[in-house]
Amino acid sequence: MTLLLPALQSPTGPAASREAVRFGDLSLTYGRLAEASAALAARIADAGRVAVWATPTAETVIAVVAALRAGVPVVPLNPRTGERELAHILADSEPTAVLAGPADELPPALEKVRRVTVDARAETGGAEAYGEGGGGAPADGGAPGPGEGGPESPALIVYTSGTTGPPKGAVLPRRAVAASLDALEDAWGWTGDDVLVHALPLFHVHGLILGVLGPLRRGGSLRHLGAFSAGGVARELGSGGTMLFGVPTMYHRLAEVLDAPAGGAERDALAGALAGARLLVSGSAALPVHDHERIAAATGRRVIERYGMTETLMNTGIRADGVPRPGTVGPPLAGVELRLVEEDGTVLEGPEAIGEIQVRGPNLFTGYLNRPDATAAAHTADGWFRTGDVGTVDTDGYVTIVGRKATDLIKSGGYKIGAGEIENVLLGHPGVREAAVTGEADPDLGERVVAWVVAADPDSPPAAEELADLVAGQLAPHKRPRTVRYLDALPRNDLGKIMKRSLHVR
Ligand code: ATP
Ligand code: MG
Repeated sequence: MTLLLPALQSPTGPAASREAVRFGDLSLTYGRLAEASAALAARIADAGRVAVWATPTAETVIAVVAALRAGVPVVPLNPRTGERELAHILADSEPTAVLAGPADELPPALEKVRRVTVDARAETGGAEAYGEGGGGAPADGGAPGPGEGGPESPALIVYTSGTTGPPKGAVLPRRAVAASLDALEDAWGWTGDDVLVHALPLFHVHGLILGVLGPLRRGGSLRHLGAFSAGGVARELGSGGTMLFGVPTMYHRLAEVLDAPAGGAERDALAGALAGARLLVSGSAALPVHDHERIAAATGRRVIERYGMTETLMNTGIRADGVPRPGTVGPPLAGVELRLVEEDGTVLEGPEAIGEIQVRGPNLFTGYLNRPDATAAAHTADGWFRTGDVGTVDTDGYVTIVGRKATDLIKSGGYKIGAGEIENVLLGHPGVREAAVTGEADPDLGERVVAWVVAADPDSPPAAEELADLVAGQLAPHKRPRTVRYLDALPRNDLGKIMKRSLHVR
């Protein structure tokens, strides 16, 4: 049996009165969460697989925790998914019930699935037994569910973000979730005393596995902002929050507030709150060096990056006691093996090498749901997972993500060029608000570097020549963008990831 949430099940867990989660004015103690999830676990114990309508609410937390305690695999659904994609995910994952909050209106695609309503405010009382004495698990609230299950039993089926193609369902066994959270605890000195400030969606690895299961596993707590705002971050970090998990678009907005010429009290409150946090963590996409530096200059604090995927959970991360280096995602986490591989399969060594990142370890998924072909294609014969990301590893083991093999590695005039470093240079220009770099077919060069730019002031965008010179001057002449295209905004998904596959000339 692999206990994912020992803090909820053991009499030695946190006090029943300790806050587990807070969403707006709704706070659930460990006692309440244990009780509500145990009651729901009993209601869904016979379900083969459940979906959760994963709004950023306490209901989602209760639902996921209940499913884990019942040993029923859980599929978190993004409530903003379009009908077509939702239909694909439902046909693929075949949930026998969908857990949703009382006010949720479910779309037609879910009409035929049994609805189980979860109401965080309705279930009260009876939590006295939780966490008391030392005489074994309490009768209802804290009793282990019937099927916490073996290490290889599937805990969650999480769909990938769909950045490079249609989302695939990654089957995550209990072993992987436990291993990855343990590795983060080790790297970050993460304990039950931490209070996480959270503003991410709850249907991906970052917001759900790290952001919800992470704190709950060890008796810590989380406060969810509902929607991200710089003011909310300042308020919660300034009143007991110790950690912030965010995606780069959030840190970008914090950097903008810190930089605002007439920032005043709002700016000072934010700078003070960030300076006082124990840990500021970024992931899901690359944090632009420019934003990293602006935050460091205003607060004296460095954001630390970690690198992970739905399929592998966390691979690398800067340690809490380590030295953050802007643009790097740190060394492999405990238990994770990482190597760089050339297209022909040659394993590369040395700080100059650029290759596909492959990983192996207890943090890996068991495969894509219903996709043995894709599962096989994603693994090498000797059991390494092909991340599809390209990177470098420097002499002290720090990994730098150059970009994705499919969209960010440009082969131009015999050179391999990573989109990320060019994007970082462009973002350093004061006239550039957003930037993405892609490769396009070119008769001479094979591919040529193309920069897509959102100007800070759309009425006076920086000239293409000026931007190209900046890149050539700071990096190398062959990295010079040959074409610059101006847009009003870059296409991004729910996590703020740039959807490069929708960047093409119309
Ligand atoms: P899909 O696989 O459906 O195309 P996706 O790869 O975006 O979508 P996720 O599993 O959510 O879906 O994201 C994993 C990817 O996110 C990684 O492969 C990597 O490209 C990127 N990523 C995650 N963390 C970082 C980071 N710190 N720096 C750079 N890239 C990151
Ligand atoms: Mg992917």
